[in-house]
Amino acid sequence: MKTALVCGAGGFIGGHLVKRLKSEGYWIRAVDLKLHEFSTSPADEFIIGDLRNQAFCNEIYNQNFNRVYQLAADMGGAGYIFTGDNDADVMYNSAMINLNILNLAKVHGADAIFYSSSACIYPEHNQLDSENPNCAEDSAYPANPDSEYGWEKLFSERLYLNFSKNFNLNVKIARFHNIFGPEGVWMGGKEKAPAALCRKVAQAVDGSEIEIWGDGNQTRSFLIVDECIDGIQKLMNSDFPGPVNIGSEEMISINQLAKLIVQISGKNLSIRNINGPVGVRGRNSDNTLIFQKLNWQPKSKLRDGIEQTYRWILRQVEKKEKPSV
Ligand code: NAD
Repeated sequence: MKTALVCGAGGFIGGHLVKRLKSEGYWIRAVDLKLHEFSTSPADEFIIGDLRNQAFCNEIYNQNFNRVYQLAADMGGAGYIFTGDNDADVMYNSAMINLNILNLAKVHGADAIFYSSSACIYPEHNQLDSENPNCAEDSAYPANPDSEYGWEKLFSERLYLNFSKNFNLNVKIARFHNIFGPEGVWMGGKEKAPAALCRKVAQAVDGSEIEIWGDGNQTRSFLIVDECIDGIQKLMNSDFPGPVNIGSEEMISINQLAKLIVQISGKNLSIRNINGPVGVRGRNSDNTLIFQKLNWQPKSKLRDGIEQTYRWILRQVEKKEKPSV
């Protein structure tokens, strides 16, 4: 039986990945600091522990796996990574996890090891124009990410690439661009823009207003999580190592995204732009390389994914507001 180790399986993308691997017939050892908050994991084993701890890592990565997926990281949306308050934790925690996992990959190996990097590694100077950001893979250097989160991702990409070079590991690296969807964090400070906006709209009283951080003209693209998993698996099944973007090229401003969600909700809401952490002016996935190497591109439209996500978040909001007796 094919085996997989999924680190970060209690998180958003890891949770969806476990479900996909199960449907593909894998025996799965899932690992995280916590259980998945929104669904019961179908993993064969779910081990709770801290991947910063090498002794714990020795216990969970104690054999050869067909696949290792390293998604665990200390991360969150703009409210978490752009305030500066969490920078030391973000860098230390995620770097420790990656160092520990690679150290064991050297010993036990794997047919393929996946590392989840981020669009946040791209240089700030190429993302100043909201209409024409450049996020082609080869634009990553000279490096100038706009967050410490991005610097850690870039450092860890290099770690994976050098372990691949020196210890003959089959490493695969993807740079995710704003993955969203049901069963992701939607409140509490770590949520990202699509979930935060869906929550604000779901909670808003008809006829009121919602607050949007920044002037709202900053642009991004968003990819529904199922399509992200397709991209991960295509990369893992290929002989291409990356780093490669996994994202959508359907760029939209944050105010437009908010208007789309308001439209889906059927409510009459106005938008008020306020000061807040925003990140780069513009960012969009460039899918030239992934299409060329893996023949992959997103199949669905942003609106479809947002609709699905809004309905899910609306249900969470309703559950919270009207707890069952
Ligand atoms: P997530 O926060 O939902 O999942 C990360 C998981 O890692 C969490 O469940 C967390 O508990 C776990 N974790 C953190 N520290 C740990 C530790 N010390 N030991 C064990 N587990 C630990 O995030 P996600 O959105 O599912 O992202 C998965 C990966 O993809 C992350 O590496 C993230 O940086 C990367 N990424 C995500 C996006 C996105 O849009 N969601 C974009 C770019 C990159």
